[in-house]
Amino acid sequence: MAYDTNNIFAKILRGEAPSFKVYEDEKTYVMMDIMPQTTGHTLILTKEPAANLFDLSEDAAQACVVTAKKIAPAIMKVTQADGIILSQFNGEAAGQTVDHVHFHLVPRYAGQDVRAHAKEQGDFEAIKVLAEKIAAELNQ
Ligand code: AMP
Repeated sequence: MAYDTNNIFAKILRGEAPSFKVYEDEKTYVMMDIMPQTTGHTLILTKEPAANLFDLSEDAAQACVVTAKKIAPAIMKVTQADGIILSQFNGEAAGQTVDHVHFHLVPRYAGQDVRAHAKEQGDFEAIKVLAEKIAAELNQ
């Protein structure tokens, strides 16, 4: 699929749009989802200009999963969640709304449902605090 360099995640990666950044390395960028499905919903963005998994290089795919493995324990510690989902959507029919490859880390809390996908903006102050706490946990 053709990659649109003006998608919102491309703009965030270029520093042209704001984000609640958690972590960054050479190949990945981690930020809070601003429409969180649960408290602590985090996104791992590839830095590769790939719209979906089919276009993503093996190297970039590997980097995303390695970053997920690094970030997930910090999210669990900060949120005290009971579990966490790692997911990634490809195509509108699968729920993809931003055509730049990213993986979701969605903490799950026993007995609590998830909110609708990409629907309701979260509390930015609370999201900012979470981003700072997860980042601090990573730097322990
Ligand atoms: P997907 O539907 O898998 O493409 O996921 C896109 C995700 O990005 C959704 O969960 C949205 O809530 C989230 N999202 C959209 N715009 C932004 C943004 N500017 N900053 C952070 N998260 C965003």
